[in-house]
Formats: sequence, structure tokens, C-alpha cells
Amino acid sequence: MAQRDASIDRNLNQNWSPETLLVHGGQLRTGFGETAEALFLTQSYVYETAEQAEARFKDEEPGFIYSRFSNPTVAMFEERMRLLEGAEACRATATGMAAVTSALLCYLKAGDHIVASRAMFGSCRYVVEELCPRFGISSTLVDGRDIEAWRKAIRPNTKAVFFETPANPTLDIVDIPAVAQLAHDVGALVFVDNVFATPLLQKPLQLGADVVLYSATKHIDGQGRCLGGVVLCSEKFLKDHLHNFLRQTGPSLSPFNAWVLLKALETFPLRVEAQCARAARIADFLADKPQVARVLYCGRPDHPQADIIRRQMSGGGQVVTFDIAGGKPAAFRFLNALRLIRISNNLGDAKSLITHPATTTHQRLSADARAEFGIGDGMLRLSVGLESVDDLIADLEYGLKAAAG
Ligand SMILES: *Cc1c(COP(=O)(O)O)cnc(C)c1O
Repeated sequence: MAQRDASIDRNLNQNWSPETLLVHGGQLRTGFGETAEALFLTQSYVYETAEQAEARFKDEEPGFIYSRFSNPTVAMFEERMRLLEGAEACRATATGMAAVTSALLCYLKAGDHIVASRAMFGSCRYVVEELCPRFGISSTLVDGRDIEAWRKAIRPNTKAVFFETPANPTLDIVDIPAVAQLAHDVGALVFVDNVFATPLLQKPLQLGADVVLYSATKHIDGQGRCLGGVVLCSEKFLKDHLHNFLRQTGPSLSPFNAWVLLKALETFPLRVEAQCARAARIADFLADKPQVARVLYCGRPDHPQADIIRRQMSGGGQVVTFDIAGGKPAAFRFLNALRLIRISNNLGDAKSLITHPATTTHQRLSADARAEFGIGDGMLRLSVGLESVDDLIADLEYGLKAAAG
């Protein structure tokens, strides 16, 4: 591991605030003295001598070998994310799903058991429910809001618990310290998909998590351009499990995408703060409307788990979920009347995006399973972007008028 990290300035002032770290953290400046981070589009690296090549391969000398293992631009992105999260180690991957799959499969083996919350991103559920059992890793899904359900499901051979909080699209919350306690009692590790909260609004490692996962595709890029993923963990987890798995199986982040994500981190706090402020205003606006049966927003005191949110999150996030009275026909009229907010299943973008979970992200579930999740036919999930909040509210008015029929 020394090979990749030695060239990065690790003497950076660790007391800097996140905003400062996100502009300067991890920068690896070349002899040209460039201001902006350089993009190293290279597959491999040349050595001065045969002895140097030998020393690099033996891990006796720092430096890069091959970009499946590490690359200077990717290393800068990883170091910046590591500083932001306050983790011992960080690795970037090609997508958020590559991060999730690698983090679980590098560690679990046949005979192990994993407990996960059932309100999870669809592909994460596939990994836990279908992929893991194929390799002899049994899994149990629970209602993540119910601490007794976690207690009953966790057993002596449980090696991992995995959940997303807040969860998509219902914004269900898992009590991170409470579940971490139950997991650690049997020696299991806690994996948290922290995409919805972002590293700015929730710090799972400080709340008891062992491994934190991101889809950098979402708020970290935040401008709808490239896919990416991040795993944050301890040095020990990296050394014992993740490092070799990533090197040998190759879900590497492309240097180009790493460069885009690295530069995006510079404006990350400004963007998320502005999106959260707009989302809070929009949630309050919708809550007053007769066509809206229910609003779910992590920043509102009427969120069913507002007490846990207050303990573990420092902001309400940028996703607002709401139920339009009148089911699918009214929800579709709402969507089709919008002129500014675009219909898309992505989130975290500068552009406001809205989706109807029952017919898109969650259409594969049976109607019963959706009902169990609380995903009704009138539910819409709005990812609030960076447009003027007045323009967004004016657009939502068009939707409401159309929904009322
Ligand atoms: C998008 C998303 C993922 C998967 O990320 P990709 O970058 O699309 O692979 C995982 N978890 C959550 C909560 C997500 O929103």
C-alpha cells in the first residue's frame, strides 16, 4: 500500500474544516507546479532501472505500478474523501455498486451470515438477497426501523450488518449506534450506505459503523456526469480484505472520472447546503397543500423518526418524498405537467429530478412488497437541485393544479 500513498502530502493540517480539505486535501502536485489537480490518463508507469521495478513490486519503494492498482488522480480523490470522512483508509471504485459489492464480497465467505435492512437500493438488495446466498453466505432482511427485528435476526455467525439510512424513497431511518452495538456484540462489522445523507450531514464512523459506502455518482459529482463509488474503512479492513480484492478483481475508477469527482468535491459543501435549504422550503410548501396527502422530509419535525434524525444527522438532506392524493393517475398528471423539474430516477444532481418509485425504481417489487415498504401509487420522490427555489415552487404549482384534475 505504501507505493500509492507515499507521494501524497499527508502532513496536511488535519484541523482544517471540511470546506478547506475539500479544496486542498490530497493534492499531488507535479514539478510543473500546476494549480489545479492533474489528470493522469496513464495505464502504467515506467521505471528508471530494473532494480527500481523490482523494489516497487516488492513494496520496498513507493510509487505507482499499474492503474488497476492505483493512479495518481484516483489517489488524490481517495485522499480527499478520506480526509472528509475522517477514515483511516479509502478506496475508489467505478460505481457505487462496485463499492458495495467489493466491500461485502472481499470480507464475507461461505458459512457467514449477513443481516440487512429491506428498505435498500434495489441493486444492494440483489447483492444481499441473491448474490451472497449463491456463495453460501446466508442473509436475513429486516425492517431497519425496528431495533427488535435487528436483535432477533443477528446471530452468532452474523459477520456483517448492512443498511442505508435515510433509505430510498421512504426516508426510513436506521438508528446507527443501536444497530452497531448489537452487531459488535457478536463481532459483526457494520456497513453503511450513506448516499442519501452524504458525508456532510452524517458521520457513520463516529456513530459506530465500520465501513461507509458511497455512490459518488450522486451528490459527490452532483452535476450528472460520471459514475463512481467510494469505500471508507479502517487500515486493518483495507489490509486484510479490501486491498487485494480490488487489485485482483479490478473494479477500478477511471482516472478521468476521478478527476471530475475530485474537482466536484471543491464545491460539494456549497452545493449540498444550497440543495438542503431549497428542499426544506419545498417540503414546507408541499405540506400545506390539500392535494398532498403526506410529506416525508428528514428536516421536518413531523418525520416519524425525527428523534433519531436529530441525534445522527446534521441536516435534512435534499430529497423530499410526498404522496399525491388520487394515486397513480394523479401522480402521473402531476409529473406530466412539470416544465422545469425533469422526470428522472437519478438524484443529487444540480438539476431537480423527480420520479414515481412504484413504476420505476421499485416496479420490480410486488404490489404487496411495495405496500409493506410504504411505497404507494401516489408517491413521488423529488431530488432538489440548485435552481431558484421560487422557480421550483412555481413548477410544483403546475403539478398540483394538474393533479387536482
Ligand atoms: C445510486 C445508489 C447506489 C448505487 O450507485 P451507482 O453509482 O449507481 O452504482 C447505491 N446506493 C444508493 C443509496 C444509491 O442511491
